[in-house]
Amino acid sequence: MTIDNFNFNGKKAIVRVDFNVPLDDNGNITDDTRIRGALPTLKKILGDGGALIIMSHMGKPKGKVNAKLSLSQIKEAVAKALGVDVKFAPDCAAASDAAASLKPGEVLLLENLRFYPEEEGKPVGIDKEDPAYDAAKKEMKERQKEFSKTLASYADVYVNDAFGTAHRRHASTAVIADYFDADHKMLGYLMEKEVKAVDNILKDIKRPFTAIMGGSKVSTKIGIIENLMDKVDNLILCGGMTYTFAKAQGGNVGGSICELDKLDLALDIMKKAKDRGVNLVLGVDCVAGDDFSNEANTQVCSVMDIPEGWEGLDAGPETRKLFANAIRGSKTILWNGPAGVFEFDNFTAGSRVIAEAVVEATKEGAFSLVGGGDSVACVNKFGLADEVSYVSTGGGALLEAIEGKVLPGVAAIEGK
Ligand code: AMP
Repeated sequence: MTIDNFNFNGKKAIVRVDFNVPLDDNGNITDDTRIRGALPTLKKILGDGGALIIMSHMGKPKGKVNAKLSLSQIKEAVAKALGVDVKFAPDCAAASDAAASLKPGEVLLLENLRFYPEEEGKPVGIDKEDPAYDAAKKEMKERQKEFSKTLASYADVYVNDAFGTAHRRHASTAVIADYFDADHKMLGYLMEKEVKAVDNILKDIKRPFTAIMGGSKVSTKIGIIENLMDKVDNLILCGGMTYTFAKAQGGNVGGSICELDKLDLALDIMKKAKDRGVNLVLGVDCVAGDDFSNEANTQVCSVMDIPEGWEGLDAGPETRKLFANAIRGSKTILWNGPAGVFEFDNFTAGSRVIAEAVVEATKEGAFSLVGGGDSVACVNKFGLADEVSYVSTGGGALLEAIEGKVLPGVAAIEGK
């Protein structure tokens, strides 16, 4: 079942969204991107004449009530975004009456799901090493089923539009789906778009396909690099990873970020790329700083010869040319992770060249997906988010999907 094919008229829909929005000290929302992201789904349901029960988590209350993470703080913002009043259920496991009395067009927002340990389904207050842990886990899984069943009892239809948590098998993201038949559970528009975007880069690949992986460490990206190795034509590895590769090849990397226990892994990646005919593009020069700060003195040097007391903080001019050349002419592009410490204005040049080349290729017909935490902040910083094909909202979920893992939130609905 797809959300477009379903008529919600006279139905109650329980929708899992990701309203885990950042709040300031006074409880004001500082970035409402996630609320805006869910609006097409929520409006479709209301527009059809359905009633809405919205559920989400916020932060990490670890199974306990925490007023600072109450979703009551965002009730008015949700009401404003939807243009209708929003009722609030302060106890998400005791909202039967509130849900039962909802009329078509009405909206009920449930309190933070993670105030209940059943949401995540992990036993609390007991160590994994404890002999009683397995029994506690089993008991919690049973309680998770009951909790999911209670949530499911509020509605006729279940919609999951929370891509950010799709990689978790939680009560509201996956277990709840067991209590609806295939015709009464579906992905929301945002989830559909995310899943389609991932399919574009893992299944419907137009060539050449260029993946740009940056960020700080090889260790956090290795699963993705390995999954992409069989698929890409060009693989750009940039950011802090550069120095692990340089060190592995005998370079002096000064004080640059470098994973000494990953040197063999770096050489192995280089070999695999060669064996598979993948054009591996690594940095050759860098902008080094004498301090990890925006005000650091800088010099351009070879990544193989960075003086002591200096660290590589951005891609150098030769490297930027190599990156732009590899990206130019690509028809599928994935970008995850910046090419330097882009948070410091003086070390944004590498990431900016990548962003601009991705935009240029997109204008010439490439499908470009930017995702995974910092790369999104990066394109936002350059004001280029609207000029790439798709900016993913899901950090961990996107990365797991690209690693080729099945997302429990998607599988629970699609029955895979
Ligand atoms: P990740 O979360 O692994 O994608 O890493 C993103 C972070 O990597 C950003 O905060 C960047 O500042 C950081 N980063 C990128 N290049 C470097 C570098 N050369 N040295 C230190 N940190 C870097």
